[in-house]
Amino acid sequence: MENYFKTLPDTNGNFGEYGGSFIPPQLQEEMDKITDAYYSISKSHQFISELRSIRKHFQGRPTPVYFAKTLSDELGGRIYLKREDLNHTGAHKLNHCMGEALLAKYLGKKKLIAETGAGQHGVALATAAAYFGLECEIHMGEVDIVKEHPNVIRMKLLGATVVPVSHGLKTLKEAVDSAFEAYLKDPVTTIYCIGSVVGPHPFPMMVRDFQRVVGIEAKDQFQEMTGELPDNVVACVGGGSNAIGIFSSFLEDPECSLYGVEPAGRSFKPGDHASTLTYGKPGIIHGFKCYLLQEENGEPSPVYSIASGLDYPGVGPEHSMLKDLKKVNYVTASDDDCLDAFYTLSRKEGIIPALESAHAVAYAMKLAKEKPRESILVNLSGRGDKDIDFIVDNYGIREI
Ligand SMILES: *Cc1c(COP(=O)(O)O)cnc(C)c1O
Repeated sequence: MENYFKTLPDTNGNFGEYGGSFIPPQLQEEMDKITDAYYSISKSHQFISELRSIRKHFQGRPTPVYFAKTLSDELGGRIYLKREDLNHTGAHKLNHCMGEALLAKYLGKKKLIAETGAGQHGVALATAAAYFGLECEIHMGEVDIVKEHPNVIRMKLLGATVVPVSHGLKTLKEAVDSAFEAYLKDPVTTIYCIGSVVGPHPFPMMVRDFQRVVGIEAKDQFQEMTGELPDNVVACVGGGSNAIGIFSSFLEDPECSLYGVEPAGRSFKPGDHASTLTYGKPGIIHGFKCYLLQEENGEPSPVYSIASGLDYPGVGPEHSMLKDLKKVNYVTASDDDCLDAFYTLSRKEGIIPALESAHAVAYAMKLAKEKPRESILVNLSGRGDKDIDFIVDNYGIREI
C-alpha cells in the first residue's frame, strides 16, 4: 500500500500512461512551484496538524458510516453509507478545498479561482476562501447557474464572485476553460483550485491525497461495525475525486470489489451520457491525458447527465490507469436508475442524496439484489438539497 502511494504518480505526474502535464511553459513554471511547495509543505507537522484541526472542528469529521437497514432488508445485501453528505457544505468537496486553500495560504496567494458544475465545488471553495480570508472567483456555466440556483446564492453570501460562462454547452467543460483562462492572466497572486482529481500534475495527486481521509475513516469505521472488510465498495465517478478518496484504502485488498459508477444519462448515443471510461478513448483535455469522450478530431465531445457534477468528458488519470489494470470495475447508471435511487433513499432511509451520489446508490441497489449475502459500502458523496427544486419541477414527488 505504502508503495502504491510512494510510486504513483511518478515525479512527472504520470499514472502509467495517463496524467502528466500538457500546458504552456509559463504555466508549467507555476505548476512546478505548486508541486515543490506541495511536497515540502504538506509533509510538515504544522500543515498536517492545522488540516487535522480544521477537519475536526470546522468540517465536522469524521463523518459517520451508516447501515441502511430498511433498504437492505428490502433488497437483500447489506448496504452501508459513508455519509459525506454530512461533511460541512454537504459534500466531499470541502475535503480537498480546505487542503488547497490551506496550501494557498502557505504560498501567500491572495485569490482562489475555480470552475464549478453542480455548484458544490464553488460553494466548498467559497467556504474555504471565507475561512482563510482569501478572495474567490468561481466560473460557472449559465445552464448550471439556472439549475443550481441555491448554490449560486450560497457562493455570493460567502463572498465569492460568480462568473457566468455563456459559450458552448454552458456547463462544466466550458467553465473549466474559462477559469483556466482567468488563472493564466495572473498565476502569481492567484491559485487555481481544481474541483476533482483532474487537470495537470500536481492536481490529480493533491486532490486524491486530500480525499484519502474518506477511505481511511470509512475502512476503520466499517471494520469497527462489522469486524470485516466490505465485499464491495461503490462510488460515483465524475472527475473521480470521491471515488478515489474511498477506493484508495481498498486498492490492495483483493477481497474488496471496487465499482466506479459513471452516468449513462438518457442513452448510449454520443452527447446523451458522460460514461467516459466505458465509451471513451485515451486523449488529452485540460492539460492531462486520460480516457476521453472525443470527436474524431480529438476535441472533447458534448456530454450530458441529469447530475451536473458528473457531466465531464474526461476523468482522472488514476482512474484511467486503474481501469486498464482492472483494479476497479467501471459501470454505469442511467438518469432513470438515478431518479429511482433518489426517491427510494429519501423515502426509505430519510436521506435525500445528491443526484451524483444517487448514481452510486442505484448501482449498490442493483448489486444488493444480485449478491444478497454481501456487504456494500457506498460513498454517499453529497446531499440532495441543491437538487430538490429541479427534481420537483421536472419529475414531481414520485411515489415508490
Ligand atoms: C462534484 C460531485 C461529484 C463528482 O465529482 P467527483 O470528483 O467525481 O467526486 C459527486 N458527488 C457530489 C455530491 C458532487 O458534488
